Amino acid sequence: HFQKSELLDRLPTQFFASLVQKVGKVVAEGHDVINLGQGNPDQPTPEHIVRSLQKAVENPVHHKYSPFRGNDFFKEAIAAFYKREYNVTIDPKTEVAVLFGGKAGLVEIPQCLLNEGDTVLVPDPGYPDYWSGVALAKAEMEYMPLEEVYHFLPNYEAIDESVLDKAKLMFLNYPNNPTGAVATPEFFKETVELAEKHDICVVHDFAYGAIGFEGKKPISFLQTPGAKEVGIEIYTLSKTYNMAGWRVGFAVGNPSVIEAVNLLQDHMYVSIFGAVQEAAADALLESQKCVDDLVELYSERREVLISGLREIGWEVSAPKGSFFAWLKVPQKYTSTEFADKLLSEAHVVVAPGVGFGSHGEGYVRVGLLTSTERLKEAVRRIQKLDIF
Ligand code: PLP
Repeated sequence: HFQKSELLDRLPTQFFASLVQKVGKVVAEGHDVINLGQGNPDQPTPEHIVRSLQKAVENPVHHKYSPFRGNDFFKEAIAAFYKREYNVTIDPKTEVAVLFGGKAGLVEIPQCLLNEGDTVLVPDPGYPDYWSGVALAKAEMEYMPLEEVYHFLPNYEAIDESVLDKAKLMFLNYPNNPTGAVATPEFFKETVELAEKHDICVVHDFAYGAIGFEGKKPISFLQTPGAKEVGIEIYTLSKTYNMAGWRVGFAVGNPSVIEAVNLLQDHMYVSIFGAVQEAAADALLESQKCVDDLVELYSERREVLISGLREIGWEVSAPKGSFFAWLKVPQKYTSTEFADKLLSEAHVVVAPGVGFGSHGEGYVRVGLLTSTERLKEAVRRIQKLDIF
């Protein structure tokens, strides 16, 4: 009988909750459902990281509160990781904030930097959690369309100068969920110039930083000259090391933004479990063969899915990064109609593009998070439908 606060009323409705419900119904009917709609990595955390956690749990120092703002050894590991992977220098004392996964940071940032009514630039289509953080900060969104003709990078020239002048924050995400696009150094350079000119803080969500195809390693925003003066990057161990359940990530970059994130977190949490920080530090510092193997696995799946769909006459583009394929739906359907058809007639779940924003209409997102056998089976089932 208690009313929820007006603040919570601002939160966007979770589009994918209704998808989960629809899927649940089909599963309950006893059908063999192939779920390509979710973004939950299917592989286990590499064994050496699990062992590291087991060992760390035995250490009573981790049974106490861990230090506010995270353990130094973890922040030093993060700095070493950025140096080794991207040749980016990070000061572990002032340029790192430890996060409860990337999601927490993404939702916190607008509350750290914005006042009521401030404007935020968000990609459309984009990861819906950006909207949640903006809503909790009582800020307003301006959407930056991501279009195939521009390789799913925002076309800054199309954004009104007055909007750019108003904007205080911008979210970017490459490799991109949902489109599978990657950023170029030129695009990031243009982003830094725009941010400098209009005094915008850039938050680059690098959740899929490890996952690039055709031998191309995705670039970090912080590799761009001047990036640290205008923004931060959010990294998570969820996808790189299949640690989605562990809830561990971090923000790196501009010290004033990092300080604001840490300040907010001082009032909300202590820090993540010290043993998790120890295992996470090991994940970042030890052999990265597990990451190479994971990218190889996703590459095989990508090949199977994309070539399979092309063979049945569906002209689809292959993702350049992330573990999602972004497929243009046959013209006679909306993305929701098409996803509903695949679910009810083929028992294959895909995520309707419109759930990621109005510019996602006309596409569906397909995750590469199941075996090649199941992907082939999904293609066989789709082939039997009359979709064109
Ligand atoms: N950013 C993007 C684009 C994502 O797709 C996800 C997870 O699906 C996240 C951030 C958050 O990941 P986590 O909170 O597990 O670190």
